[in-house]
Amino acid sequence: MDHFLYRDGALHAEDVPLTEIARGVGTPVYVYSAATLLRHYNLFDEALAWGPHLVCYAVKAASNVAILKLLGDAGAGMDVVSEGEYRRARAAGVPGDRIVFSGVGKTEGEMRYVLQNGIRQINLESEPEMRLLSKVATELGVEVPVTVRVNPDVDAKTHEKIATGKSDNKFGIPISRAREVYAEIATLPGLRVVGIDVHIGSQLTDLEPFRAAYRKVADLTGVLRADGHEITRLDLGGGLGIPYARSNLAPPVPMEYGTVIQEEVGHLGCEIEIEPGRLIAGNAGILLTSTIFVKEGEGRDFLIVDAAMNDLIRPAMYGAHHDIVPVVEPAPGVETRAFDIVGPICETGDTFAKGRDMPPVGPHDLIAFRSAGAYGAAMSSEYNSRPLIPEVLVQGDQYAVIRPRPTYEEMISRDSVPHWLE
Ligand SMILES: *Cc1c(COP(=O)(O)O)cnc(C)c1O
Repeated sequence: MDHFLYRDGALHAEDVPLTEIARGVGTPVYVYSAATLLRHYNLFDEALAWGPHLVCYAVKAASNVAILKLLGDAGAGMDVVSEGEYRRARAAGVPGDRIVFSGVGKTEGEMRYVLQNGIRQINLESEPEMRLLSKVATELGVEVPVTVRVNPDVDAKTHEKIATGKSDNKFGIPISRAREVYAEIATLPGLRVVGIDVHIGSQLTDLEPFRAAYRKVADLTGVLRADGHEITRLDLGGGLGIPYARSNLAPPVPMEYGTVIQEEVGHLGCEIEIEPGRLIAGNAGILLTSTIFVKEGEGRDFLIVDAAMNDLIRPAMYGAHHDIVPVVEPAPGVETRAFDIVGPICETGDTFAKGRDMPPVGPHDLIAFRSAGAYGAAMSSEYNSRPLIPEVLVQGDQYAVIRPRPTYEEMISRDSVPHWLE
């Protein structure tokens, strides 16, 4: 459930009509619902209430500091994959001991920064990385809690670009090699093993791959403990999928996911960490856009909107589906017409939907792309020199701009011309 509903004939974000935001901020713009973000975080928190746990929001899904502060104030930890995300989480007031650092290519500079400023744990993904971290931690005279991300060789049955748990993916170390890797860590100064990490992919709509991976992690916990390692934390990653199309069967809910976790690893007495991103932010945000033209083509009609692939790349990048709805509620039973819904960018890939049935729409009508809160604004760019899309957060009957749209002058003034061209 989300908080984007029609009321008095117009789509609202909580108690704010989207027409009001479009008037005040312009389009295109991302709009998030605070109530939805908090609800999703709380669902995960409740799903793990059977034992000690920390829900670490995956910052990369939607990384605005206001969103991080909202979740952090509610008690969330954060999963970060870069120094930039770490700094955002800290700017949002999240303490270092609630931040886990993931990622396949952490640099020495990033390691140094998070060790100096406080980190709950670092999830290691390779042997060169653990040797480098040992060196940095020793230089700084600290001991850093670590897990190793194991690759369980499980097919997540999701889009190939976001599957991460098969042996041919770049992530983690093969689970078959875990014993020797943990044995080496035990000899490295500055590192303290606290647990095991796994993350098999994103937008999973079936719990069985999670179950298979977590079962392997449970087995490995026993093996590593027998080898003398202290395994007290299990970081089980993110990846639970969301319903992008209302017409589709809904994917499993956090409570069912929490039950699978309890069934597979609940007996081990470990603190559980999970790293959900998409499920917290995805349906908590929409992309609000206006139509520029309705263009009648040969055998095909186009709806040209003022959002483009630089603002929301998921359809172009993953062939992703977003429900697209008019902000003015269509009359019941109104006749629909099929449109290709496209942005203004000079690429055929700048297509959001093909042959999508829409109620009557004309130029300058407001349209909302649902389920755009995760991997939307966070992946936006200024391609085609379209200023970075702004973000708005709604809470009840109030809204605030949490990232303003840069002016053209601001955008251009970031470039500089070398002296020899002056
Ligand atoms: C991307 C990612 C997540 C979040 O995945 P979602 O599908 O958004 O829940 C969590 N952990 C790691 C290590 C990731 O790379």
